[in-house]
Amino acid sequence: MFTLLPFHIFFNYRKGKTPRRPPPKKPSNNQKDPVGVYCRVRPLGAEDGECCVEVISSTTIQLHAPDGLKANRNGEFKETQYSFKKVFGIKTTQCELFEDVAKPLADDLIHGKNGLLFTYGVTGSGKTYTMTGSPGQGGLLPRSLDMIFNSIGPFQAKRFVFKPDDKNGMEVQNQVDALLERQKRESQQSVPKTPSSRQRVDPEFADMINPDEACKADDVDEDSSYSVFVSYIEIYNNYIYDLLEEAPMDLIKPKWNGAGTPLRHNTEFIPPQSKILREDQNHNMYVAGCTEVEVKSTEEAFEVFWRGQKKRRIANTQLNRESSRSHSVFIIKLAQAPLDADGDNVLQDKNQVNVSQLCLVDLAGSERTSRTRAEGSRLREAGNINQSLMTLRTCIEVLRENQMCGTNKMVPYRDSKVTHLFKNYFDGEGKVRMVVCVNPKTDDYEETMLVMRFAEMTQEVEVARPVDRPICGFAAGRRQRNQERGGPVDGEPPAALNQLLQSFPPLPASELSDPNDDHTIPRLIEALEKRHRIRQMVTEDYNKAANMLKSMLQDLDGNLMSKENFIQDQRGRLGEKDKMIQNQKNEIDRLEKKSKMLEYKIDILQKTTNIYEEDKRALQHELESRDHRLQREVSEKKRMEVRMHGLVTDEKLRWQKECTGPPVRPMHRRSHSAGAERWVDHKPSTNVELDTVMQPSVANAIKVSAPSEKALAKCDKYMLTHQEMASDGEIQTKLIKGEVFKTRGGGQSVQFTDIETLKQENPLGPSRKRTSSETGPNQEECKDGSWTDVETRCAVAVEMRAGSNLGPGYQNHGYSKRRKP
Ligand code: ADP
Ligand code: MG
Repeated sequence: MFTLLPFHIFFNYRKGKTPRRPPPKKPSNNQKDPVGVYCRVRPLGAEDGECCVEVISSTTIQLHAPDGLKANRNGEFKETQYSFKKVFGIKTTQCELFEDVAKPLADDLIHGKNGLLFTYGVTGSGKTYTMTGSPGQGGLLPRSLDMIFNSIGPFQAKRFVFKPDDKNGMEVQNQVDALLERQKRESQQSVPKTPSSRQRVDPEFADMINPDEACKADDVDEDSSYSVFVSYIEIYNNYIYDLLEEAPMDLIKPKWNGAGTPLRHNTEFIPPQSKILREDQNHNMYVAGCTEVEVKSTEEAFEVFWRGQKKRRIANTQLNRESSRSHSVFIIKLAQAPLDADGDNVLQDKNQVNVSQLCLVDLAGSERTSRTRAEGSRLREAGNINQSLMTLRTCIEVLRENQMCGTNKMVPYRDSKVTHLFKNYFDGEGKVRMVVCVNPKTDDYEETMLVMRFAEMTQEVEVARPVDRPICGFAAGRRQRNQERGGPVDGEPPAALNQLLQSFPPLPASELSDPNDDHTIPRLIEALEKRHRIRQMVTEDYNKAANMLKSMLQDLDGNLMSKENFIQDQRGRLGEKDKMIQNQKNEIDRLEKKSKMLEYKIDILQKTTNIYEEDKRALQHELESRDHRLQREVSEKKRMEVRMHGLVTDEKLRWQKECTGPPVRPMHRRSHSAGAERWVDHKPSTNVELDTVMQPSVANAIKVSAPSEKALAKCDKYMLTHQEMASDGEIQTKLIKGEVFKTRGGGQSVQFTDIETLKQENPLGPSRKRTSSETGPNQEECKDGSWTDVETRCAVAVEMRAGSNLGPGYQNHGYSKRRKP
C-alpha cells in the first residue's frame, strides 16, 4: 500500500531555496567581433519594372542610379558599390540563408550564448519573408526553432521544472512541484492544450521546413536538461505590447473566426496594455511582465508564434495601424541546467541555471515618412517609428565613433524602446547580425542607398565576443549512465505519490437532499475516519521511515566524520613522510654532488699518474739506452785494451829483437844486469852528443831503454826511454826523441830534439798529481783508477825509421803503457 519513496525523490521534496548569491561578475573579454551584416536582394516583382541593384560578387553589390534621377541631380549619383559579409542574390533559398546567417546563432543559443538577429530594409524589401517566410519557404525564425528542438529534443526537462521568475531569471523546481503545477494548469480550462502534432498546427505554418533541410547542433551537452521559452512582442509607436498575453476572458468581447478576423466590430475591444522595460540584477534589459511560454516542440513554438501573429494583425486592424511601421521581436529563451551527480534530476541550484536567448527582430520599414503619405496621428506615429530607427542609427554611429576614436560618448540607447531593449547586445552580451533586405526596384533607389549606408556603418561596430559559460563540476556522461541503470530522467517522479493518493478509499456521495437522511453523514464520517486512520498509519510509516533514514544518515555522517578524521590523520602522516622524502632527497643530492667531486678528483689523479708513468717509462728507456751505450763502450775499451796490449807486446818484442845488437859506441852506461835492459843514470838534454847525454847522473833512475846500435844504423830517428820514480812515488817516463845522422868519422850521432814526459801515479803512493808537457796524448782511465799516458807519435816514427842500433841496453818505447803492478 505504502512504499518508501525513492531516495532522490525524498530529497527533492525539500523545496530548498538556494541562498541568493551576488550577481556573477561578467568576465572581461577582449575579443571583439564586428556586427555581421548580410545583404539579401529579393527578386523584382511583376509590376516593379527596372532594376537598380546588381550583385557583382558574393560580398559586393552595386547600385545603379535610375536614369531620371541622374538627369535631375546633374549626374551627381554615381554607381556605388557596397560590401558586406556576404551578399545573397535573388536565387538564394531560405535554407542557404539560414545556414550562413542564423544557424551559428542557434548553435550559440544551444551552447548558452545570446544572439540578436534583425532584418532591416524598406517596406516590401523582404524582411518578413526573410524572418518568417511563407508556407513551404520557412524563414530564419522557424528554421532556428526547428534546429533548437532537433538538437535538444531528447534532453528537454519536464514542463515547469524551469520556471521564469518574472525578473528575467529562471528558477528550477523539483519534479514533484513541477507535476503539481502541471496538474493545476491542466485543470484550468482557460489555457488551451498545446498541440502535440503537426496536424493541429495552423495550415499556414505547416510544412514550412522540408524535413530534408532539418539540421541539428553538434556537441550538445547531454548532461544538461533544457527548456525553451518563447515571447513575442511588438513595438509600435515606442510602446511595447506583449503579443502572447492572455487577456481575461471576459474582457475580450469580440469573437474571432479561425482566420483571426473579428466577427463583429464593436467598441468593446480592449486595447492591449503596453509593457515597460526593466533591468535585471545582471543589468540585462527585459520586458517586465512579458509572457514567456514554455514550448516543447517546433510545432508548438510555431503555434505560439502564430497566435501572437494573429493578435498583432487583429490589433493593427482594430486600431487602424500600419503593420509595416511596427517592430516585431520574437525571443527564444533556452534554459539549461546540469543534471545532478546521479544524472536523473535537474540540479536544484538556481545559480547553475544558464539562460541564453536569441532575439529575432523584424524591424519596421526604414523608409522616411514623406514616402508614406500618412496624415494626422498616423503621421505622428510614423514619425515616432522612424524615430526609433533613427535612434538605432545614432546608437550605431556613437558606438562606432567610440570604438574608432577611443571616445566614451554616451550611447543614447534609452531614446527608443528598440535600442534600449537590445542595449546589452551592443555592450557584449552576444553576437549581433543583421540582414539588410533590398528590393532592387528603381522606386526604392534612394531609400535603398540610405539603407546601404547604414548597413556599411553598422559593420564597423564591434561587439565583444560572449564568453563560454562555465562548466559545472560533475563528470560528463551522467545522463547516459543513468539511462543505462534504468533511472528516470525528468520522468514522472510521483508515481509513488499517485499510488499513495489512489490507495485512499473513495469518498461516498455526500450530497444531502433529505434532512432525515441518517446514512450519508455516518457513511461519510466512517469513510473519513478510515481515511484518517490510513493517513495516520501512513504518517507513522513515513515517520518511521524518516527516522530510520535519519538515523542512517546520522550513522553515515558519523562514518563520514571518522573517515574524514582518518583521512586528515593520513594526510598529516603523508605530509611528514613527504618532508622526510624531501630531506632524503636533499641528502642524496648532496652526496651525489660530493661523489661527482670525488670522481673528478680521481680523474685528475689518474691523469697525473699516467703522466708520471709515462715519464718513468721514458726515463727507464733512457737509462737502458745509456746502460747499453756504457756496456758498448766498456766492451769497446776492453777490445781496445786487448789490441793495445797486443800492439805493445808486439812492439816490445820488436824492440827487444832490434835492441839485442851491439850498443852505441860512445854511450856511457852503467849496467845493472847483462841483458836487454840496463839501468843508467843520465840527465838528458836536448841537442847533446850521445856521449854526453848518456852521463848517468840521476840516482833514482829506474830504467833506461835505447835502441840498439844496429837499429840506430838503420834509422834516422832516435828515441830513448827513461823511467824514474819521483819522491812521491810517481813514475815518470821520459821519451827523449832525437834525429840520427852520420858523423865524419863514419859513426852515428843523435841530436835530441824533443823530450816527452809520461807520468804515472804510483798506486801505492798518496794522491797523484799528473803533469804532462806532451800535446795530444790519449788518456784512458783504467779500471783500477790509475792513469796511463799514451804516446803513439814517436812510436810510429821509430817503427818507420828505426834501424840504427843504439846499443843492446836501450829499449825503444813506441808505446808505453804501464799498469799498476
Ligand atoms: P517587408 O517585410 O520587408 O515589408 P515582405 O517580406 O513582406 O517585405 O515581402 C514583400 C513581398 O515580397 C512578399 O510577398 C514576399 O513574399 C515577397 N518576397 C520578399 N522577398 C522575397 C524573396 N527573397 N523571394 C521571393 N519572394 C520574396
Ligand atoms: Mg514585413
